[in-house]
Amino acid sequence: MAKDKKEMISDLIGYLEYLKESGISFLPSLKKRKVQALEEIWRELIDCQRCKLHRSRSRIVFGEGNEDAKLMLIGEGPGYDEDLQGRPFVGKAGQLLTRILQSVQIERKEVYITNIVKCRPPGNRTPEPEEIKSCFPFLLKQIQLIQPRVICALGTVSAQTLLQTDTKITSLRGKSFDFSGIKVFPTYHPAFLLRNPDKKREVWEDIQKVAKALREGGE
Ligand code: SF4
Repeated sequence: MAKDKKEMISDLIGYLEYLKESGISFLPSLKKRKVQALEEIWRELIDCQRCKLHRSRSRIVFGEGNEDAKLMLIGEGPGYDEDLQGRPFVGKAGQLLTRILQSVQIERKEVYITNIVKCRPPGNRTPEPEEIKSCFPFLLKQIQLIQPRVICALGTVSAQTLLQTDTKITSLRGKSFDFSGIKVFPTYHPAFLLRNPDKKREVWEDIQKVAKALREGGE
């Protein structure tokens, strides 16, 4: 009888452990290949002019973090500080995100952080549908490579884009959704939280659910 998926995964893990014990480990080369593949996607975006956001950007903010992350955090787009530094979530909202993660014992170095659009919209306006459409395929490639177990969608644009819905973030947050087998937990964007500190409790509840989903998955 054909083996089920669980058995096949368990056999594969056993085989990899056997190879490791025998001193044959190709896991590092798999990791290296993943890093290289991410670099290739990044190279596709160098000098990208696929949408008009390229006109006002200083730098493309590709994303950063652990390429084997179990948790991926996806925001809307780079802000002022991110555009200058070329790194995601480095301003005040980023510092708040770091504290939110630490509140459930998750360090930034463990996760992968990126955005729906990789260039800063002028004046931090919301990215337009055409801009999202142009940039989204690159995010999909990042997700396919990293293969996180859980995605935390930060804010309306991220949640609505990933879930292909017009439903408001107020109705989406607090629940989990499926995205090609990955659990998606929408919550408020940290920048919104800075302006609306009364929403802290809801974000706290959401991040607890994210941490629980990671633990349940064998984290
Ligand atoms: S937002 Fe994305 S698609 Fe638009 S120019 Fe920047 S990298 Fe290219």
